[in-house]
This record gives sequence, C-alpha cells and structure tokens, in this order.
Amino acid sequence: MSLAKYNSKRHFGDTPEPAGKKGLAGAKLTFVVQRHHASHLHYDFRLELNGTLKSWAVPKGPSLNPKDKRLAMMVEDHPIDYATFEGDIPAGNYGAGHVDVWDHGTYEPIDEDANVISPKEFAQHLHAGNIKFRMHGKLLKGDFALVNMKKDEKTWLLIKHHDKYATDEDYTSEDYAKKSSLAYTAERNKDKVVKKK
Ligand code: MN
Repeated sequence: MSLAKYNSKRHFGDTPEPAGKKGLAGAKLTFVVQRHHASHLHYDFRLELNGTLKSWAVPKGPSLNPKDKRLAMMVEDHPIDYATFEGDIPAGNYGAGHVDVWDHGTYEPIDEDANVISPKEFAQHLHAGNIKFRMHGKLLKGDFALVNMKKDEKTWLLIKHHDKYATDEDYTSEDYAKKSSLAYTAERNKDKVVKKK
C-alpha cells in the first residue's frame, strides 16, 4: 500500500500534517476518527492495516444506531503518524481547514461470525469490499461493518451491528465533538494536575 498519493497532494513545508512514511503503531491495530472542518464538514474514519491508515471520508460521521447506514467515501491511505494529527491545515493546501481527533483507540478485525481474524485475512475482506471489525474506542464500541456499494471502488457504507453498544436513539456525531479531541483532553488533564496540588 503506497502513500505516494497522500504525499503528492501535500506540500509539507506549508502544512503541519505529517509526511507519509510507513510505520507500525504497536501490537494492536489502531483506529482514529478525525473531525475535519474543511470546505465541507466531514469525519475521516481511519483503520490501521499493513503499516498505513486505510481511510474513508464520512460526511455525517459514524453512528451507534444500526439503522443509520453512513456513506463513507474511500480516500487515499494516510500514514500511521496521522492518527495523532490535530490542528489547522492552512488555506491553499489540500484539505485546508481544522482537524480534531473525534475518537481513537484500537480495533480487532472480525469475520462474519464475529471471530477475530488476522490482518492478512482482513486485507482480503477489504479487497472483496466487505469488512467487519470490533472497535475499542471512547465513543465507538462494539462491532461495525464497512461495505462497498459495488457502484465503484470508492463508495462504501459504515454500519453499526446490533450489540450491547448499539442504540436505537438518534445519533449525531456533532453532539460528541470537541469533548473528545486530544487537545481538549490534554487541557482537561492539565487542570486535574493543578487541582491535585
Ligand atoms: Mn478529510
């Protein structure tokens, strides 16, 4: 999986985003969802696989309601380092606007029967256009699927499975924005340290 497309769209002298190089985040597979307030507000949903972040732009953001089938447009692979990126992409650059981490954590690839599978098998499912995974985030928990619509390679749907983390209430990603950003969390933790003294 190449990061050439990611790198070709960006001028790293002008944008604070990390330059694309492959890497491994750790023993567990990571995920991140970034709230990207560009020309159109959207959420970037990223799953680590084989040294890069497989990426989808989700206009309405993820939902914990299984009735919501959220459109997810596959975009270019991003570098692992992108998972902690928050900040402003200056005007004139690709994706110009503000990026906050909306949720992050680890995930496990699973199969039809909800058994954990290897990254290699998961990559085959991705190629076939139908992946399932178990999320261990602060906001996103339990089993989800991303299913290619077969209209083209890029058009997918992000769907929550029925499990104990699912809700039948209306779910709006914006309701959870801000409070989960890394900058907000760091700021809040700093306050905690001060209060202890
Ligand atoms: Mn984006």
